[in-house]
Amino acid sequence: MDAESHWFKVGAFDCLAVSDGCLTYPPAVFFVNASKSDYEAALRERNLPLDGVTTPYICLYFRTEGHQVLVDTGAGNLAATTGRLVKNLQNQGIDPGSIDTVILTHAHPDHIGGILDSNGAPGFRNARYVMSRDEWDFWTQSPSLSSLQCDDHVKHLVLQCAAEVLPSLRHRLELVAGGDEIVPGVRVLAAPGHTPGHIALDISSQGETLIDAVDAVLHPVMIERLEWYSGVDLLPEKTLTSRRSLLEQAAQKEAVLMAFHFPFPGLGRVRRTKTGFSYDPIFGKSDTGTHQRNR
Ligand SMILES: [Zn+2]
Repeated sequence: MDAESHWFKVGAFDCLAVSDGCLTYPPAVFFVNASKSDYEAALRERNLPLDGVTTPYICLYFRTEGHQVLVDTGAGNLAATTGRLVKNLQNQGIDPGSIDTVILTHAHPDHIGGILDSNGAPGFRNARYVMSRDEWDFWTQSPSLSSLQCDDHVKHLVLQCAAEVLPSLRHRLELVAGGDEIVPGVRVLAAPGHTPGHIALDISSQGETLIDAVDAVLHPVMIERLEWYSGVDLLPEKTLTSRRSLLEQAAQKEAVLMAFHFPFPGLGRVRRTKTGFSYDPIFGKSDTGTHQRNR
């Protein structure tokens, strides 16, 4: 594993956790309903800085018997530290033109910002694009972000990105709902809250399962502090319900859990405890993970 790509298996599927870069958020927005002393204690416990939460943007690529699938496209040129997805795919021998399915878990800039190429056309040129119907309906029907607890310029940026990117997909987008199978072995798990149509995925092959929770849980701390949410969760109560349900499913199935913003490669195991859940990150075999933990 290098710091930007990590291959792993789910049954017969070859999977790649692949970074698009990272961005730093104010802790007060990231843990918007936690007290300053509580979230600072949680960060300090993990040797993490108190002045900013730096999170990677981790997309997922995988090959099944008949398909090459990409889950989310990163942030594109949102910041100087993002937009590395295509280069990282190519470094692993993956031609973006060979990807036949692009799943968009929700329409936030760090997930759809990498769709358009320099000509303003969808860059994964041979792919069908998949998004939940609820998500499409929300962002294309005068969305209101008034419930977000973040700066107005962030709200503006989020709205602007959706307005720029989504129309380009209008004629090549397939709309799905919870329970739908996108390709054999890959099922939609409705996980609303972070956005109204946010989806997670159950990716299963030969008795092994990966639950990609995407943004239903934004930080490992939120597995222990299940009641914490962020200022960019549009429907906080639903976020918490979706998160619990996904963690429950991952624990029950002994699945690997993936989360888009966890320390790279964003993979771990969840176990039930008396009071909630515990989380153990998985790092590459050749890597002790020390540099991730100390970041
Ligand atoms: Zn995100």
